[in-house]
Amino acid sequence: MASRTTAHAGVPAAHREVEAPGALRERVLAARSVQELGEAVVDWVESLGFPLPSIYLEVGGRLRGLAMRGYWQVLEGFTVERGVIAETFRTGDAQFVPDVRDDPRYIAAVPGVVAELSLPIRWNGRVVGVLNVEARDPLSSADIRIVTEVATAFEQRLHQFGGPEPESSWQRLARRSAELAALADPSDIGRFAVEVAGEVTGLDSAVLVVEERGELRVRAHGGPLGERLSGLSTEALGEVASWTSSATSAYTVGAIEGSGFAGHEALRRAGVEALASASLQSNGGRHGFLLAAGSERCAFDRSQLQHLEVVATHAASALYTALALEALRERAGQDALTGLGHGATFHDDLGRVLAEPGATAVLLLDLDNFKQINDMLGHVVGDRVLLECSEIFAGELRGSDRLYRVGGDEFAAILSVRDADEAVAIAQRLNRATRRHGRARVSIGIAMLEPPLVVETDTALARADLALYEAKRLGRDGVALYRPELRTDALDRSNLAADLSLAVERDELFLVYQPVVDLAGEGVLGVEALVRWAHPERGVLSPAEFIPLAEQYGHIEDLSRWVLDTACRQVSAWCAERWARDDLRLGVNISAAELGPGLVTDIAAVLERYDLAPDLLIVEVTESLFMDELGAAPPLRALRELGVNVAIDDFGTGYSSLSYLRRLPVNILKIDRSFVLELDDPKGAAVTRAIVELSRTLGLSIVAEGVEHASQAAMLRALGCEHAQGFLWSRPVEAAAFPTLVQRLDAELRPAGGPGRPAVMWPRPVEDAATLLDEPDTRCGDGAA
Ligand code: C2E
Ligand code: CA
Ligand code: CA
Repeated sequence: MASRTTAHAGVPAAHREVEAPGALRERVLAARSVQELGEAVVDWVESLGFPLPSIYLEVGGRLRGLAMRGYWQVLEGFTVERGVIAETFRTGDAQFVPDVRDDPRYIAAVPGVVAELSLPIRWNGRVVGVLNVEARDPLSSADIRIVTEVATAFEQRLHQFGGPEPESSWQRLARRSAELAALADPSDIGRFAVEVAGEVTGLDSAVLVVEERGELRVRAHGGPLGERLSGLSTEALGEVASWTSSATSAYTVGAIEGSGFAGHEALRRAGVEALASASLQSNGGRHGFLLAAGSERCAFDRSQLQHLEVVATHAASALYTALALEALRERAGQDALTGLGHGATFHDDLGRVLAEPGATAVLLLDLDNFKQINDMLGHVVGDRVLLECSEIFAGELRGSDRLYRVGGDEFAAILSVRDADEAVAIAQRLNRATRRHGRARVSIGIAMLEPPLVVETDTALARADLALYEAKRLGRDGVALYRPELRTDALDRSNLAADLSLAVERDELFLVYQPVVDLAGEGVLGVEALVRWAHPERGVLSPAEFIPLAEQYGHIEDLSRWVLDTACRQVSAWCAERWARDDLRLGVNISAAELGPGLVTDIAAVLERYDLAPDLLIVEVTESLFMDELGAAPPLRALRELGVNVAIDDFGTGYSSLSYLRRLPVNILKIDRSFVLELDDPKGAAVTRAIVELSRTLGLSIVAEGVEHASQAAMLRALGCEHAQGFLWSRPVEAAAFPTLVQRLDAELRPAGGPGRPAVMWPRPVEDAATLLDEPDTRCGDGAA
């Protein structure tokens, strides 16, 4: 109390009363504006011994300081959410805070305040402002009464002024601009811009026209003329744009008369008599405009048009930012090459689909030979192949199915299907179509997710992944469906790989031998060595079960060296035993993974070690290795130079472009079993015939694989195929059984029973190619010479 008394020495606390010193009271009565009234009132309150008075009036949703004393800062534009003053305004109830330290609502502005009194100011029955007093001494009930009476005087006088002054057009512009800037959705921005364009110009209608993908489009419209304006043709919009939408703000004032500007006829037909237009300036070269229109003639003042220009600028900046963000978001969810959704999109979509009722199939599609295509033919071809695949897949899927590119050469699809059978059928269709129309081959894993089973997205993916692995393991280029055993299989595989690293050391590998016979009656001409693994617990394993593992875990080199050494040693021993022909050919299989210069050296060494002529050896490699048409298979070339034969294994299942055969270092084709299986179908037979004819042209020898029936052998013979192997003659047998097998087969297959023709040209020397072209088909006919 004392301090207030000292601060306002002229007004002792004991003499405080409503009556103001005459001059101040005069000023309140004499005020000619709300502003002057506010100033007089705070002076009056101060003179009563309250050094921190302030008055706020609401403008555009904020409490703006009208007048205040004792503060070293101007408090302009409180939000109505926080603090004692805001609460008074919101609730319309006077707030008295006897001790500010106890009140969390108190916001400190100046030091030393102990109490606060906040009174609502009403006009026309609603709260329009607040009279506030902060005090450095406790406030008594008498103090409260005095201030309340001043507030009442203020209200009365405010009434005479017709209430608070309206928001200025600049204030409103600032407020609306801030609101506009907070919008992120393009259509919200459009709607808002149109609304504000009407507000600032006083016209009742507006359109926002934006250039998108080179075309002007009405993004938003409002008001009675809005509908008709948005119906303007692109041509008419273009005309209006040519005039209103320049790099700087353009507007017209007043009525549309005569033919003063392009597009005016169109506007007039739409009922427009007055308009103001501003270009969308922050458009980076794009055209567009915000046009306000009315159906009655009017004049604008300059500031209205300036406001419109500001609104258009803010709208343009907000809109183009929002559109750019939208495009980015879209692009971010998409693979740039194929335009398909990418991994994250797939993941999100899958989560959503799994939450819906109904059966879903998740497909993971992995290209089998993409790495080779990419490495050998280059990225341009690689990209083309990926695009080709995405088109083939999309062409086979139904409208409701979704396709994604989830990795380099991995795709995924989400299908809603009735059951697993349907899912498998679709996957097989994809696989077949790819084989028929594309250069790549695809393995597909399927996970079926059917209610009531509920699984997490990650579980679903893990299952599809295991199924994919299974499809690869079963020889690629196929389809596999997830089943629970696959999970244990996966565990199993890593254990198996660990065992495999010791298999050579522990002498668990062994070879079996399958004879290759001459279809023209010359008996057994060769032998293919095939590896087996006698696993101590799991029994004899087939190469399909462990070769992929050996490749994956890096054991393939040891394994192949062992195979090569063992097979060569064996064949050399057989030749020495003199029961076999001394030109018995030995075929060994080589994985892509081990093809390198080291292999050539090893092969040369092993041939020398066992004193074998290089042309007795046939290295069998699969087709995918041969995609390098430009000769980037130097190890194979080196082998050919050494005199070793090179065969394409499983011919017809890989990269089936026949044209490259001419340039490749191969001299034998092994026609895949799948062609032999199709021989009884005329179309299938035609394919084999074509392969046989082509290889004759190119001077390549042919071996048909997987012949199981005499009818197939007859067919092949008729087609001109020279050599074959298969269960019809014998399964692969162990070394000990081989000599007897060969002797029996020779006896059966040679019509004369005696020793065969001495010079069996197998494989054919490539130099013969030209002469072979003219040779009659009967060369390999029935063998009776
Ligand atoms: P491949 O080179 O195509 O070998 C021919 C496969 O067809 C062999 O299977 C053989 O037993 C089988 N087969 C032969 N005649 C018939 C028949 O009339 N009907 C049927 N249904 N099948 C027949 P296997 O021994 O299971 O070998 C599978 C694959 O494992 C081989 O296919 C080869 O790619 C690979 N492989 C075998 N041994 C080795 C090896 O030492 N090293 C490498 N890298 N791969 C090997
Ligand atoms: Ca083979
Ligand atoms: Ca084969």
